[in-house]
Amino acid sequence: MGLIVQKFGGTSVGSPERIMNVATRVIEEKNRGNNVVVVVSAMGKTTDQLVSLAQEISKQPSKREMDMLLTTGEQITISLLAMALHTKGYDAVSFTGWQAGIETEPVFGNARILNIDTNRVNKELEEGKIVVVAGFQGSTIDGEIVTLGRGGSDTTAVALAAALKADKCDIYTDVTGVFTTDPRYIKDARKLSSISYDEMLELANLGAGVLHPRAVEFAKNYQVPLEVRSSMEKESGTIIEEEGRMEENLVVRGVAFEDEITKVTVLGLSNTLKSLSTIFTTLAKHHINVDIIIQSTTNKNTTDVSFSIQSQDIKDTLQVFVDHKEVLQYENIQFEEDLAKVSIVGSGMVSNPGVAATMFEVLAANDIEVKMVSTSEIKVSTVVEEKNMLKAVEALHQAFELARTAVKQ
Ligand code: ADP
Ligand code: ASP
Ligand code: MG
Repeated sequence: MGLIVQKFGGTSVGSPERIMNVATRVIEEKNRGNNVVVVVSAMGKTTDQLVSLAQEISKQPSKREMDMLLTTGEQITISLLAMALHTKGYDAVSFTGWQAGIETEPVFGNARILNIDTNRVNKELEEGKIVVVAGFQGSTIDGEIVTLGRGGSDTTAVALAAALKADKCDIYTDVTGVFTTDPRYIKDARKLSSISYDEMLELANLGAGVLHPRAVEFAKNYQVPLEVRSSMEKESGTIIEEEGRMEENLVVRGVAFEDEITKVTVLGLSNTLKSLSTIFTTLAKHHINVDIIIQSTTNKNTTDVSFSIQSQDIKDTLQVFVDHKEVLQYENIQFEEDLAKVSIVGSGMVSNPGVAATMFEVLAANDIEVKMVSTSEIKVSTVVEEKNMLKAVEALHQAFELARTAVKQ
């Protein structure tokens, strides 16, 4: 008998009918002779609605109380799914993150999972029950309830699969797999039959919302076989594994994008060995996540440095610079909003020089100005104006022949 962890996202559990449909999918797996642990998200847009509700009460709600509020979303789904399974004649029990033994670090809003005590889940599985676990939540050693960051139910599922040594983790969602780019925006996007953990990790980190980046990290570190597939259609999805099978020598496997990026430029920074470390340590201390960094030496005594952040952090960033002007020693600070990051990802890039050059040519041919660039062995990211984001994605998707070469659905 095997053990399968299944995860169903918000849309897949968005109504009572859909919860009944999920129950059917769970039972199919159980009837194949497997033990089943099911992780679910909050129904539909519940989490967004809870965030809005909090905003009506307070513009800056306490992070602890936000987590207390948001975790209720998943708690609704687990109980309803367990009831659905009961009505279909199957023994099932629902668990909150705490009851499932998910221990996290003490960080409200974005906690990492530290450990999973699988005793209780295993005991129920041994009794033949289907175990339904609330995604996106855990508890600290002090008994505080925390969330794992938006989209974090994927991480609950993969972490549970790793801890329980499951044979497989299936992520059921509202698309039929991982596509060459977001199929909601680019109609030519095609489903990939497989992709490597490293490529998926880059895509997820660079904005492909189909999987929570930490879920991919867990899957890679614990070698959890992962499949992203549809909760509605029966077709097979995308396998995420150590070495994704290369389809027709694709150099670029996917295009990811993210809007709401702001570029900050610090001018006339005193050119000492420590000036960069002082700036970025100070920003890190204030929990400001800096992405691409570009330094240009202007003269012997001063230098300019640009970096990109998420637009929501601009107010805090400017405040840090105002508050620490004496320590940071700069002349002026400027920023540019309404930017976006467009990235190409593929492990074939390592051995194929000229991929970045092609990317710049394509963007130039489409009159798209590149404002910042960053590269790694398997990705090239560019910052462009937000108004050009989808045009850039479409042009790159076409230039790297992703629609043509990827496996048709
Ligand atoms: P769930 O609620 O099931 O977790 P999400 O909304 O978090 O679902 O993730 C699925 C969505 O991810 C899809 O509807 C799609 O618009 C988006 N997406 C972004 N990039 C990709 C991609 N490369 N492949 C597939 N889906 C993608
Ligand atoms: N319900 C949470 C969210 O909307 C977690 C998840 O769906 O994965 O972010
Ligand atoms: Mg998701």
